[in-house]
Amino acid sequence: MKTLISGGTVVNASGPFAADVLVDGEIIAGLVAPGSAESTSWRESADRVIDATGQYVIPGAVDGHTHMEMPFGGTFSVDTFETGTRAAAFGGTTTIIDFAIQSKGKSLREGLDLWHEKADGKCAIDYGFHMIVSDVTDSSLKEMDLVVDEGVTSFKLFMAYPGVFYSTDGEILRAMQQASTNGSTIMMHAENGIAIDVLVAQALARGEGDPKFHGFTRPSLLEGEATHRAIQLARVAGAPLYIVHLSAAEALEEVVAARDRGQSVFAETCPQYLFLSDADLAREGFEGAKFVCSPPLRPERTHVDLWRGLRTDDLSVVSTDHCPFCFKEQKELGLGDFSKIPNGIPGVEHRLDLIFQGVDQGEISLERWVEVTSTTPARLFGLFPKKGLLAPGSDADIVLYDPHATQTFSAATHHMNVDYSAYEGMQVKGRATTVLSRGSVVVENNEYVGRPGWGQFLQRGENGLLR
Ligand SMILES: [Zn+2]
Repeated sequence: MKTLISGGTVVNASGPFAADVLVDGEIIAGLVAPGSAESTSWRESADRVIDATGQYVIPGAVDGHTHMEMPFGGTFSVDTFETGTRAAAFGGTTTIIDFAIQSKGKSLREGLDLWHEKADGKCAIDYGFHMIVSDVTDSSLKEMDLVVDEGVTSFKLFMAYPGVFYSTDGEILRAMQQASTNGSTIMMHAENGIAIDVLVAQALARGEGDPKFHGFTRPSLLEGEATHRAIQLARVAGAPLYIVHLSAAEALEEVVAARDRGQSVFAETCPQYLFLSDADLAREGFEGAKFVCSPPLRPERTHVDLWRGLRTDDLSVVSTDHCPFCFKEQKELGLGDFSKIPNGIPGVEHRLDLIFQGVDQGEISLERWVEVTSTTPARLFGLFPKKGLLAPGSDADIVLYDPHATQTFSAATHHMNVDYSAYEGMQVKGRATTVLSRGSVVVENNEYVGRPGWGQFLQRGENGLLR
């Protein structure tokens, strides 16, 4: 099967240029000058020609942080691997990396097997796994090496959620030491969960149960403190560190300082921290529950700091932390007690569009948009240049993106399996019009034309950004 994508502007992280893209089977065969002899001869033998005139042609986006079918607080996030990857494809994302969970008292093996079972034969696009380590023991440390050999090359630890995912500083240090010997990267949820639990108990004792108190009891100082501590522990262990879902200026300052002294510290932020704020969390009645995630949404003034961080590469990646819970019956578990609201915001479908608003508004360049949503996550998580790049030999994960299209986000029209949109009524510029996964069209004319099981498990290599 030969495909020609003609007349578009190719945008890699290195910048935009006019080129026709030749696709042979699942792989990009070449990029050639529009109208050149190579392009013409490929057109003559092609099975399919896709007209990209007026559109950007970009490497499929890589979302390094999703939670499909994740257990939390007695319920599960509502997107399955089937519905979640389909929604991702609609938004121009062609790779997700989800988090397999080791439960307390169980092995990494059991957790990883369970996640393979959930995803196998279901995904519309390619997928990989990180592994959440919630029980650091002699045997789970040894297991980390085995899991790395199976292409799961990053491990997430938690300084938050005591009793569930939480690890002590000593346990974190041991996991980091292990990572420093097996070439993996430690990812950190950096909030001081021990102190937060005290503030939560005090708030509830005062009768403060509304969603907005979720934010008040998780102050940005405790994200900054935990980020500082994680960075120092990684420094002691000599291990690379990746801070997930950075939301606070205090945390960003710590990352800036670490990177300035040459430490291998990376950080991601998420669209919700760039477009939503604590004002949403404080909406009338129980509406705020739709915006409960951890770390919590911050004051609007933080948006400026986070966009700057994206420009200066102190924030290297934008991921979604997609973790959808329905408003009805799931978020409602926390009526009157914010600590029982399942944490998470749906977003896997909208990341590329939301960050494109930053291009439209002059916050970041076109190529930076591609870099933070595709190229850098591919590099960091050992998928480059198979993913994250349009070049000969790379997977033909390709998105045609119309910068002049407009759309309005709504639960009535989105494809995520959840009953509300955190961006209800928001009008945005730009839209993915055609999406290819390994050479096969999966979305076209706003229709899903892929199939569950097309997506393959990706065995990932080492972090490609290590100094
Ligand atoms: Zn997460």
